[in-house]
Amino acid sequence: MYDTDAIRRDHPIAGVAVASGLQLRPTGGRLVGVCPFHGDSNPSFVIYPSSQSYYCFGCGAGGDVLDFVSRLHRVDFKEAAALLQCSAPLPVSHARPAMPATVPAVDSAKATPIIEAAVAFYEAAIRSQPKVLAYLASRGLGAATVRHYRLGFGVLGLGDELRRQSLDPDVAEQLGLLSEGRERFVGRVVIPDLVGGRPTWFTGRRLDEREPRYLNLRIPKPILGLASAQGASIVMTEGPFDWLTAVGWGFSSVGLLGTRVSSGSTELLERFEEVYLVFDNDDTGRRATDEWCERLGERAIPVTLPPGVADLNGLSCQANGRQVFTRCVLDAARAARATRQQAA
Ligand SMILES: [Zn+2]
Repeated sequence: MYDTDAIRRDHPIAGVAVASGLQLRPTGGRLVGVCPFHGDSNPSFVIYPSSQSYYCFGCGAGGDVLDFVSRLHRVDFKEAAALLQCSAPLPVSHARPAMPATVPAVDSAKATPIIEAAVAFYEAAIRSQPKVLAYLASRGLGAATVRHYRLGFGVLGLGDELRRQSLDPDVAEQLGLLSEGRERFVGRVVIPDLVGGRPTWFTGRRLDEREPRYLNLRIPKPILGLASAQGASIVMTEGPFDWLTAVGWGFSSVGLLGTRVSSGSTELLERFEEVYLVFDNDDTGRRATDEWCERLGERAIPVTLPPGVADLNGLSCQANGRQVFTRCVLDAARAARATRQQAA
């Protein structure tokens, strides 16, 4: 049923391991890291790219990419194959941008360096904000996710920083970064959209739950993560935190900012054969799921979150959240296959 040779070929084990959160260091022709399968204190986990296999000298675990995924997610071989087909095969830094970096309405040649400068400034600031980092960790967004997705925190001083870099404050005002000199993202967690590692847009989220929770740049909203989403299948989430949860767990994923279906957004998703819809577990989320199913047809696969879980990020606060979500995705895939077979 699954072409395992193709799966092994399309999902190099090192890329899958890194996308799953392992930190690997090259030595000789091998990659070495801390084993995810036992309480490893010194790196005993070795990946051999030449044979696309791994072995842990601490606990003896070893095998190919399918074995790695099945062990990591505690699923069987078949489920590991299904999971690989709908998960990110490579870390984002290796991804080639599929979409050009566009910043319409504002002169993009002037806007791009300002967005980059702002994200770099906020990114540096978050490192000295233990309370913010603790808050993100409590939402399941750990240090690796913060670093990899260049999350930041709005502190005062952006105006000075832009002046220091001789960047145009008028363009910063047009972008909505400043308003009559006031720095609008102060006190917010900054979540950028990255294209080839470079920010082209960002949103700022309040630390409390008061509405409106998000403040966006005054340029068109992207679909978060679209440039680096790989493979034929993706997970589509409703908000930035849900998206960060999914990508943090290694799923190839994109994040809508809201649930609205626009014709433009369906075109942007054309390259994906399967879109797993993971919206909020409420009436609005269910309505959005119906709309997207109608729009995407057979390619849409609705994923049902367990009762009592408000959204995907809510699962990340549970110790076994990743396994629970993996199970939800696999159940959705199975149901979709059964429906297709019945129709055929
Ligand atoms: Zn081990």
